[in-house]
Amino acid sequence: MNREENIKQIQDSSKVWDIAVIGGGSSGLGVALDAISRGMSVVLLEKADFAKGTSSRSTKLVHGGVRYLAQGDVMLVLEALKERGKLLKNAPHLAHDQPFIIPIYTWFDRIQYSVGLKLYDWMSGRLSLGKSTFISKKETIKRLPAVLQKGLMGGVVYHDGQFDDARLALDIAQTADEAGACILNYTKVNNLEKDSSGKITGLKIQDLLTRKKHIIQAKMVVNATGVFADKILQMDNPEAPKMIQPSQGIHLVMDLDFLGGSDALMIPKTRDGRVLFAVPWHGKLVVGTTDTLREKPKLEPEALQKEIDFVLETAGGYLTRKPTRADIKAVFAGLRPLARPQEGSTKTKEISRSHKVIVSESGLVTLTGGKWTTFRKMGEDTVDHFQQVTGEKPGASTSLDMKIHGYSKQLQKGHWQLYGSDALAIQALAKEEPKLAEKLHPDFPNIAAEVIWAVRNEMAVKVEDILSRRIRILILDAQAAIETAEKVAQLMAIELHKDQVWISQEIQDFNKVAEKYLIRK
Ligand SMILES: Cc1cc2nc3c(=O)[nH]c(=O)nc-3n(C[C@H](O)[C@H](O)[C@H](O)COP(=O)(O)OP(=O)(O)OC[C@H]3O[C@@H](n4cnc5c(N)ncnc54)[C@H](O)[C@@H]3O)c2cc1C
Repeated sequence: MNREENIKQIQDSSKVWDIAVIGGGSSGLGVALDAISRGMSVVLLEKADFAKGTSSRSTKLVHGGVRYLAQGDVMLVLEALKERGKLLKNAPHLAHDQPFIIPIYTWFDRIQYSVGLKLYDWMSGRLSLGKSTFISKKETIKRLPAVLQKGLMGGVVYHDGQFDDARLALDIAQTADEAGACILNYTKVNNLEKDSSGKITGLKIQDLLTRKKHIIQAKMVVNATGVFADKILQMDNPEAPKMIQPSQGIHLVMDLDFLGGSDALMIPKTRDGRVLFAVPWHGKLVVGTTDTLREKPKLEPEALQKEIDFVLETAGGYLTRKPTRADIKAVFAGLRPLARPQEGSTKTKEISRSHKVIVSESGLVTLTGGKWTTFRKMGEDTVDHFQQVTGEKPGASTSLDMKIHGYSKQLQKGHWQLYGSDALAIQALAKEEPKLAEKLHPDFPNIAAEVIWAVRNEMAVKVEDILSRRIRILILDAQAAIETAEKVAQLMAIELHKDQVWISQEIQDFNKVAEKYLIRK
């Protein structure tokens, strides 16, 4: 994926793209992937980095949603289970089966979760990841050594998928790019272009690295900007009522031994009626999440003290060693783009999490809601509106079976697995230049060659692109990320021909962001 090459493509103002997508999170990337699978011409514009928004801040589950099943949203669960199964087949380097254990303390819970999860298995049909079973108290303690044992009767084990969200976004971007899409990060949509009848004909965009402005033409424009969707809707119609209600969810990251083992813990009902997960991920334990209404959309939302206390207290209620603020390696927050509730209501969890596609009078197609797991289906449903907007029939979608960039049947172990078929090429860089085999930080397996690779092939342009999304040190251990920033900046500067001023500015910019992921003790 080469940014300069792609910038050249948008300089041709006479070109009319079939689809222009605003937003490089899971929703926008799903649209680009599906459109390219139908042989359409596609341009995708992301104002920051791919998955900089909500799409790098999820719980990292590829799931049908046990919780939505409990709420009776059967269609949503069926759709998500199918997508889950397909994603594990199309991107085995990024998504895998993860067993979850619900600790059982009452007979009622034993019956309700055993029956409910059997139904969940049954609904996943041939794409099931494994059967759910009840396990004894002894077995539960063996698999979750740190779970609270007082009153424990056993556990219910079930299976869901787990993935690396930011890297999947990047690999979808690369899949679409390799198939001919023009994918750009750090390119902002400033406004919509319309003809004399008020129909949308294209976009006014700006390359945020050079500050150069461009106009592009497109037959259909898709607004896939997550919590920022209202801003684009208001570019279309300044009177448009607000559609989106951001709802914040936070995660705390701590050492794996707070749980022990490789199974995840699922707490089906927290004090506020939500689900809480404690999931092993990249050698750490990710614990979350919350559901807190926020007024303003932000690219870097901050966890509230009360959210941190809530997660610590709830998780602590199920663990033998209770985590404290001092144990938190990093905290990250994300915003769900939920449909704004009716006046008077402050509840967000009852609002259906299924996605919606809305077409405005001027032809702006807005995709909202949904979840990471269903990104591809969301894309397909959006591209299905092409005929309604343009009068032209799109080709048939083939994205369901498209292999994602990096797909390989021979996966390496450890963090190399995430690179799939790219792993050997990155290792070759380190062999050519032994300095590139050096670790970036003593506590993490990542090496200098990964930084060079990300700059050359994955459109990384800022230190934060590397430390937050190409490799995930920022959300795994914020202090370690701060300690790594200078090394990363120096490696990038050589590759990008930047000077010392650039290095200092990058470190400063990175530290400002990283501060938000640190917990003040
Ligand atoms: C706490 C939490 C946990 C979650 N856990 C899971 C989970 O485990 N599994 C699951 O399936 N789902 C999960 N989800 C849901 C999932 O993460 C979201 O549904 C999904 O990431 C939303 O993606 P998006 O593309 O709509 O939004 P975003 O990822 O926010 O992308 C929108 C993008 O639009 C860009 N943009 C905005 N304005 C412009 C402009 N003018 N020009 C160009 N670009 C622009 C932004 O920079 C941003 O990158 C979770 C969500 C949250 C909040």
